[in-house]
Parts: sequence; structure tokens; C-alpha cells
Amino acid sequence: MLVDTKAAPAAKPGGKLIDGGALAHRIKAQVAAEVATLKAAGVTPGLTVVLVGDDPASTIYVGAKERTCIELGMRGDTIRLPASTTQDELLAIVDRLNADPTVHGILVQMPLPKQIKADAIVRRIRPDKDVDGFHPVNVGKLLIGERDGFAPCTPSGVLYMLQANDVRTSGADCVIIGRSNVVGKPMAALMLQPGVDATVTVCHSRTRDLAAQTRRADILIVAAGRPEMVTADMVKPGAVVIDVGMNRVPDPTRKSGTRLTGDVAFASVREVASLITPVPGGVGKMTIAMLMQNTVRAAAQLSR
Ligand code: NAP
Repeated sequence: MLVDTKAAPAAKPGGKLIDGGALAHRIKAQVAAEVATLKAAGVTPGLTVVLVGDDPASTIYVGAKERTCIELGMRGDTIRLPASTTQDELLAIVDRLNADPTVHGILVQMPLPKQIKADAIVRRIRPDKDVDGFHPVNVGKLLIGERDGFAPCTPSGVLYMLQANDVRTSGADCVIIGRSNVVGKPMAALMLQPGVDATVTVCHSRTRDLAAQTRRADILIVAAGRPEMVTADMVKPGAVVIDVGMNRVPDPTRKSGTRLTGDVAFASVREVASLITPVPGGVGKMTIAMLMQNTVRAAAQLSR
């Protein structure tokens, strides 16, 4: 994951958009080509997603993952289980998928019902099939810089966005809001890795004077789950702003009565930033594309 450190400095303030849809399309085209090569060698990359219960958002995500696999020529299966499934039953399914040579990627959709410990499930997935990148072995590999592991899809998508836009990361002050295991912490590890070389600050709910931190950022990555919490006065002119947040907020002007918004007050921050991701149409578009990329790499590594 090398960054072109000779790339031109960020453009003047004015808010050029980073188009997540176009970048995701580019990644998917690359994945489809790799799938074709693997298929010619007799390997059809396969992802199996396990969905427990009928959480509406999870049902939508899982459907999108299955459709994208099929669109790219991969095998995409979903195992749908009732909300009453026990931890032992789910562990037995993970064991079966671990042993199945036609399954290269396993993803258990979160959140899980209360009777199942998510940690126990994540730890049971074979690390070399853990395309979500949440198994402790993959978390460790990311931290120590071993490249054969899997990094979580959303932060990987953010790094891809920066690199595809020739954002200078080497020596840049990167401030991340959020320290979750899903976004903030792996994002920090990716931005620190050799070749990316940012100077990273991770902020959270106990950070003193958040605005003082964010105003130093050349690259500001926001993953707090707080609608429009980052305002223009918190952003350095010319900064690159990546909004990971996905929040559904009331909007009486919409037929649905709600709209999706990020963690950044987009319209005003766009005036200050040099590059910015919209919500929707930004980071959210990248996550599934990176999942497909991880799955095809798992297939290649497992079939060597
Ligand atoms: P999370 O587990 O709830 O973590 C949120 C983090 O933000 C926590 O570390 C929290 O600090 C911090 N935080 C909350 N309020 C803050 C404040 N006022 N000031 C400073 N820090 C604050 O959420 P997550 O899973 O990381 O997700 C974050 C957002 O990204 C959500 O909107 C989620 O929907 C979205 N998301 C999008 C994608 C995608 O594909 N686009 C994928 C995953 C997540 P503490 O640790 O101190 O509580």
C-alpha cells in the first residue's frame, strides 16, 4: 500500500468531491478481472455471509453483498438463521464453513442477537477466511505490518480513497475522531504503516478540546456516529475531510420522513476543505468493494 509521496499538494480550498461510487466501480472492475483469472485456473472465489435474525439494515447490507459477489463472477451465498439461533449452533456453522474448500471468505453479519457472544464467533472464523479483518490474528497482523492478513473494509476503503486522489499522507497530520475496533483503531494503524507515514492522532469522547485537535489536521477522518458534529470552524482551510458517519435523521421534507447524513456538516465544511466525501456516495460505497477485494485475495492465497 504505497502512497505517491511526490504527488502534488492538496488543491486550494473549494471542496472538490471524492466520488466513492466511481472509485468503488474501479475496484470492482479490478476484482472482476482477478476473478476471471482465478476461474481460468479452476478456482471460483466464494464468500458466505451468515445473517442471524431479521434486522432490517443488516438484511439490506447482506443482500447487497450477495448481489455484488454474483455481479463480479464470484460465488455469493447467504445463510439466513432465525433470531433464536444459539451460540453453539452458530459456532457449528462457522466450523463447517471453515472446513469447506469452496468457501474463501466468511462474514458473520453484526449485530448478533444477545444470546450470542460476537467475540466468540469472530475468534472461531479461520483468520485466512476472515475477510472482515476482525479476528485478533488479523488485527495483530495489521498492527505489526504483515501484509498477508486482512484489514477491515471501511478503513481500507478510506485509505484507498486518499491514495486514489493522490493525497499526500507522508508526514501529514491525520486526526481521526472515533476509536472503535471497526473504524477508528484500524484506520489509525493503516495511516501509520510504512509507505503511508502519517502522524496520527485518535480522538474520542473524552478528548479535551476536540476542535483544537481537528484544526491541526491535514487529513480529518470522522467516524463518531454523531450527525454533522464537525463544523466548518473545526476544519483547517485546505484539509482533506473524510466522513465515515452514516446517521439516519428526521427530515419532514422527504417522503420517508428521514434522510441519511454524515458526521460532517457537509455544505459549510465543503467551503473550507480541499477534498471531501459526501454522505451518501462517499465512504459507504467503498466498503463492499473492499470486501470483494479481500475475498478474491483470500481465494488466491488459499488456492496457492
Ligand atoms: P462506534 O463504535 O459508536 O464508535 C464511535 C466512536 O466515536 C467512539 O470511539 C466514541 O468515543 C467517538 N465519539 C462519539 N461521540 C464523540 C464526540 N462527541 N467527540 C469525540 N468522539 C466521539 O461507531 P463506529 O462503528 O466506529 O461507527 C462510526 C460511524 O461510522 C457511524 O455513523 C457508523 O454508522 C459509520 N460507519 C460507516 C461505515 C460505512 O461503510 N460507511 C462502516 C462502519 C461504520 P468513545 O470511544 O469515547 O465512546
